[in-house]
Amino acid sequence: METSVAATRRLRCTQLALRPSIMAKLDILTYPDPRLHIVAKPVAVVDDRIRQLVKDMAETMYEAPGIGLAATQVDVHEQVIVIDLSETRDALQVFINPEIVWASDNRKVWEEGCLSVPEVYDRVERPDRVRVRALNEKGETFELDADELLAVCIQHEMDHLKGKVFVEYLSPLKLNRIKSKLQKRGRARM
Ligand SMILES: [Zn+2]
Repeated sequence: METSVAATRRLRCTQLALRPSIMAKLDILTYPDPRLHIVAKPVAVVDDRIRQLVKDMAETMYEAPGIGLAATQVDVHEQVIVIDLSETRDALQVFINPEIVWASDNRKVWEEGCLSVPEVYDRVERPDRVRVRALNEKGETFELDADELLAVCIQHEMDHLKGKVFVEYLSPLKLNRIKSKLQKRGRARM
């Protein structure tokens, strides 16, 4: 299984080398980078620049690998989210200028992780169902009712656009431990 994934990635890299403008893997900011706290602006026009950003974000998410990525995490402060919860990694969902138009009173706890907070997983309580309104890559408005993991993922990624990282729901004690762990890691790598 590992081998076949690696082989697919190599293949993708070869294609990238042949057509370098098609997609690019972007760098993911790591907590507590202050740029993760910048509030993203709405996208004014869904044009080719935004569609290229979506492609680059999708490529970055698949390579990581992760199930969701917000533009904030790649240091682009515009309201764009990509999500793919499929096992086969071929069901990309794109949310531009997303808004929660309804959330259930019922709340549920899930264990969350984040590409910007490597190796940290913790429990966060959120509404268990949400209705989201957003634009797709063509600039068309759509609404979607989400539950289970998709509801969690949409809310997690929308928090990034507001400059909030999931660990900020945890206790100050836990948050400080996570910060110092990640800062040490960052120093060790330099
Ligand atoms: Zn995240």
